[in-house]
Amino acid sequence: MTPPTTTLVHTNPRTRVNWHRWGRVLRYTRIPVLVVSVYGIGYQQGIMDTTRTPLAMQQGLLLTILKSVGVTHEQHVQILDSSSSSSSSKPATPEQRMVMAVGQQIVQAARVYVQEQLQHALQQAARDPTAEMPSDMTSQQQLEYFMTQSKYAETIQLWYQAQLRLNGESSDHPSPWSYVWIQHSNIPNAFVTEILPRRLFITKAMGQIATTPDEWAVVLGHEISHLILGHNSQTNQLEVFLKTVEVLLLSMDPTEGVMTLFVVGALAAVHRGLAAAYSREHERQADELGLTLAARACFDTARGVEVMHKMHQHSVSAAPSTMQSSTISLWDTHPPSLERYQQLQRASQTEHAARYTHCHTITQRFLRAITRNPVE
Ligand SMILES: [Zn+2]
Repeated sequence: MTPPTTTLVHTNPRTRVNWHRWGRVLRYTRIPVLVVSVYGIGYQQGIMDTTRTPLAMQQGLLLTILKSVGVTHEQHVQILDSSSSSSSSKPATPEQRMVMAVGQQIVQAARVYVQEQLQHALQQAARDPTAEMPSDMTSQQQLEYFMTQSKYAETIQLWYQAQLRLNGESSDHPSPWSYVWIQHSNIPNAFVTEILPRRLFITKAMGQIATTPDEWAVVLGHEISHLILGHNSQTNQLEVFLKTVEVLLLSMDPTEGVMTLFVVGALAAVHRGLAAAYSREHERQADELGLTLAARACFDTARGVEVMHKMHQHSVSAAPSTMQSSTISLWDTHPPSLERYQQLQRASQTEHAARYTHCHTITQRFLRAITRNPVE
């Protein structure tokens, strides 16, 4: 006869071990969960602040961005919108009008490109035989359904988000873009940021490097591509991930602090390496899509890529300190290398305006003639 207590004697220690393990798992998983929630609270707070006082928030954000590129005074910037009506007292210069005309064509090409990509992804999702979509859906419901249910959800999300960043809330009535001219900076720079989308930040010194509409098309195409591909968000996600790993490793330090110094040092090196690799990949992607946008906007890409050579020469001749003045500018943190220029030069042989039939029409030639010689 087997006494019933025997089984209890065997299972009790196991149960204790399991609880102990679960306790440890909980202790370690709660840290990343906390880090992510704190990040999430900050993000939601940001959204709430923006919806409550949109104009004040935007103004605050604008000042923060400008500060990060060394602008301390609002008078050092001139904000122009695409209808050329200046919000400051100074009228737009011929150079500014030319850059804005190029910008408008690139933004338009970007809108068409992103819309095509989104439609293509939606068609693929709809053709998928495993998709069980209810038949009586509006196009908006279809979009929402495919964004969560289909195996193309990630691609659809990417292009949908890109469309929001380019157009604002409504694709039928897209919000116009504006141009923030940074007058006093002697660093050639142009950038777009997801925090304040639909604004092209351009320093006056950039005009000494990019001089023709074709060159500006390559510069602006590159910057708008960063916005389309969501590179800011991806870099933020990497930051949160690395922070979580850091906190997690430090919390597990069995040497009670002795290992900490070593861990922090090693992680900083990993962080730098990963961020650099991320940034390099982002630059390559933005170069590629930027060239496509310039070609689709009917610019001469072979001539345009010469701006990369000039940027490279400038970065070689400029003192290193002036090239690392800000973290927001991708031109600064990753000055175009000779290799990037050569890659673009090769790509421009196949990615050019002649590929696109809409660039063959007389209207386009006429428009290009105007952009080439801005009317005084
Ligand atoms: Zn870039």
